[in-house]
Parts: sequence; structure tokens; C-alpha cells
Amino acid sequence: LLEISHLKKSFGDTEVLKDISMEVNEGEVVAILGPSGSGKSTLLRCATLLETMDAGTLKLGGETACEDKDGVSVYVGKKELREIKNTYGLVFQNFNLFPHYTVMKNVTDAPVCVQKRDKNEVEKEAKELLKKVGLDGKENSYPCQLSGGQQQRVAIARALAMNPEMLFFDEPTSALDPEITAGILKVLRQLADEKMTMIIVTHEIEFARKVADRVIFMDGGVIVEQGKPEDVIDNPSNERTKAFLQKME
Ligand code: ATP
Ligand code: MG
Repeated sequence: LLEISHLKKSFGDTEVLKDISMEVNEGEVVAILGPSGSGKSTLLRCATLLETMDAGTLKLGGETACEDKDGVSVYVGKKELREIKNTYGLVFQNFNLFPHYTVMKNVTDAPVCVQKRDKNEVEKEAKELLKKVGLDGKENSYPCQLSGGQQQRVAIARALAMNPEMLFFDEPTSALDPEITAGILKVLRQLADEKMTMIIVTHEIEFARKVADRVIFMDGGVIVEQGKPEDVIDNPSNERTKAFLQKME
């Protein structure tokens, strides 16, 4: 569902991503680990079209978003990109909810206004989704009336409301207290059990070990190591991975 090859990205003179290639298949849960500044968020932003890549190829849901022509990423048209953007959901560290919308409107806005789906049907579905993420009865609250954990649950319900083929998370729990984090990780785990395809940037090593099918370790803008969690986390072959994991303990 996601295919990146030879991705390069610089900001000014700084090369932040250096020749990244990766694939995510249907039903897979991939955790991306790595030190601060290693380029995890930039990779996620390039993969989700929030940031353009300089060089390399990107395919999402089987559709080509950009191709590499002589070392330069050339993107398809706006209309095609808009369609591609409809196929996945995004959840960030800081929830990014609309503060002046109720929980219900936050969840139903994109399906109704972007996907042009029937409002009643979407609201019925949204109620189910809110129940699923543990927010029964909060439909009419505003984000400021909710705790951080509850806001993140809304963000997850909002992403799910688009019926995505794939979900991207960038440190979904790093703004939350440990006990609240556990609840969010439980929701993610449930989605993994339902075979939702997910790419999760996280510092939660235990979660990655238990839930991810594959772990990618990044450092300095490259993928240093990837594989099964038991290999990368419990038995890393690279010194940089070892050093990082030791510091996390
Ligand atoms: P963290 O774990 O702290 O979130 P990260 O692995 O997500 O780190 P990135 O946010 O991808 O790291 O940043 C990688 C590098 O790119 C950093 O050195 C950062 O300063 C730089 N960078 C990221 N975004 C921009 C930008 N918009 N303009 C300039 N430099 C940027
Ligand atoms: Mg980041």
C-alpha cells in the first residue's frame, strides 16, 4: 500500500533524508523508531504528501504520487493527488482538532464535505467509531472540554471516518501522560488486531515489540536497520540501533 524508493529530501543545505526506500503491505503494522532529528517526521510528511520530496518515487494505495525523472521527483496532477489523499488517515502528536467544532463535527466534517457522503449515514457511523475509541456520549463536547487522551481518541475516530486503507501516526502518545498513553496504545492495538495497515512513528519500544510486524530504525536520515521486532529490538545487529535502545531503557 506504500512504496517509497530512493527518497531524498533536503531543507536548504541540510540533507534530512538520504536515499530512503521502504514498502508497507496490506495489513502490516510498521513502527518507525529513531533518535530525535533522524528524519522520522519528515519521512512521514513526505509519504503523506504534506511535504514534497526532492528525488525518488512514491506510490500510495497502488497509485503513483510521484516518479523520479533524472533525480527529481515529478508529481502527478492536483486532481490525482487529491484522490490519493482520500485513501489514508493521519494522526499527529498534537491532535490537530478543529477547536470550534464539536467532536461529532470534527469526525464527520471530511467525510461529508470532502468525500461528499450522506450526512446521516456518516453521523451514524461516527457514533459507532466514537464508541469504539471509548468516547461514547462525547459527541457534543468541544475539544477544549476534553483531556489530551480523549482529544487523541477523537483524532483517531476522525481518521477512521474516512474509511482509510492505511493510517499514519506521528508520535501519537508523546504529548500524553503514561497512564493515558496506555489507553491510546490499546486502541491502536485493537486496530492492529483488525488488520488495519498502520505506520507508526513512536518512542514506545514495548508497544513496537508487541504490536508491530516490522520495525524500522532510522538515524541520520537513513534506514539503519529493519526487520521483525524480535530481531531489531531484542537482537540489533547495528551499533547505532544498540546505542539508541540502551538509552531508551
Ligand atoms: P523527533 O523525534 O524529534 O520528532 P524526527 O526524527 O521526527 O525527530 P524530523 O522532524 O524529521 O526528525 O527532522 C529531521 C531534521 O530535519 C532536523 O534536523 C530538523 O531540524 C530538520 N527539519 C525538519 N523540518 C524542517 C523544515 N521545515 N525546515 C528546515 N529544517 C527542517
Ligand atoms: Mg518527529
